[in-house]
Amino acid sequence: VPIMRSELTGTIFSVQRLSCHDGQGWRTLVFLKGCPLRCQWCANPESWVQTPQLAFNSSRCIGLSECRRCIDVCPEQAITPIEPDGLITVDWSRCRHCSECATACPSQALHLFGRTVTVDELLASIEEDSLFFARSDGGVTLGGGEPLLQPAFAGALLAACRKRGLHTAVETCGAVPWANIEPVLPFVDQLLFDIKSADPDRYRQYTGVSNERLLNNLNRLPRAFPRTQVIVRTPVIPGFNDTETDIAAIIDLIRPLSTVSDYELLPYHRFGTPKYEYLGIPYRLSSLTPPTAERFAELQKLVNSRFYTHRQTEPASAEIRHSL
Ligand code: SF4
Ligand code: SF4
Repeated sequence: VPIMRSELTGTIFSVQRLSCHDGQGWRTLVFLKGCPLRCQWCANPESWVQTPQLAFNSSRCIGLSECRRCIDVCPEQAITPIEPDGLITVDWSRCRHCSECATACPSQALHLFGRTVTVDELLASIEEDSLFFARSDGGVTLGGGEPLLQPAFAGALLAACRKRGLHTAVETCGAVPWANIEPVLPFVDQLLFDIKSADPDRYRQYTGVSNERLLNNLNRLPRAFPRTQVIVRTPVIPGFNDTETDIAAIIDLIRPLSTVSDYELLPYHRFGTPKYEYLGIPYRLSSLTPPTAERFAELQKLVNSRFYTHRQTEPASAEIRHSL
């Protein structure tokens, strides 16, 4: 069976060990590269493209008086000096992401986001923390980007984790073909499913794609995978989905689904914005600030009354009706 093959490769951009977020217990978070969405608020723009890509952090450059290595090695003449500053600039339209300059750069001002790894390599590094996993019922969470864009790799990795008794979780935007979900879900204990808006037009306007596919996928989950716990999550973005009407519409979609155990709101944050600069991508929400504590608390109150209260009284079989 190809999905079990440990030599399968995937492209990842980050591994975070000993995290207590994104699933139960102590976890290793593996971030896979490639995403079908282009959310304007995205905190991981380095995840969008599936192949490794160059980034330039100008604050780390030691300056042209000390070093011109990147200019000398670039085969595309994509790097040029900015003489008055004594620094360099990257012409992103010429860059082929070959990584020659990143290898030559002594200060890691130029570096690559993303690398290709085999299931076995990744597993070996995950297993270094097995003691923590065992003590906390923790495990591995695949995020991104969209991990289900690499279903063979994700499935093989999670199957291997399962075999070793680790708890497995996947964070998804859901906007992938069902054929990408089906082979992976048998190895997933917990699915963290993002719904950013129930409104089709607004969803498309801010993410670039329709929400139709992800809502269809979500509705198929309880019957197809009754043992996979689903936690729905919404990033609260001021001006996009931070009203009671927005959140109530999402709750009404998910409340009837029996495998949806929780609904979590996550406040918008700006920690990812420097990465836009490193990648030469304009950040379109530069004047946006995170939701206030009061606004967030009001929305949380709505979740408590409209989602959790009803969950206790709703018959468990209701999802069958609604998911058809
Ligand atoms: S990654 Fe390659 S093409 Fe791009 S700037 Fe560096 S050396 Fe030039
Ligand atoms: S190789 Fe690195 S440190 Fe040297 S000039 Fe280029 S970016 Fe700056």
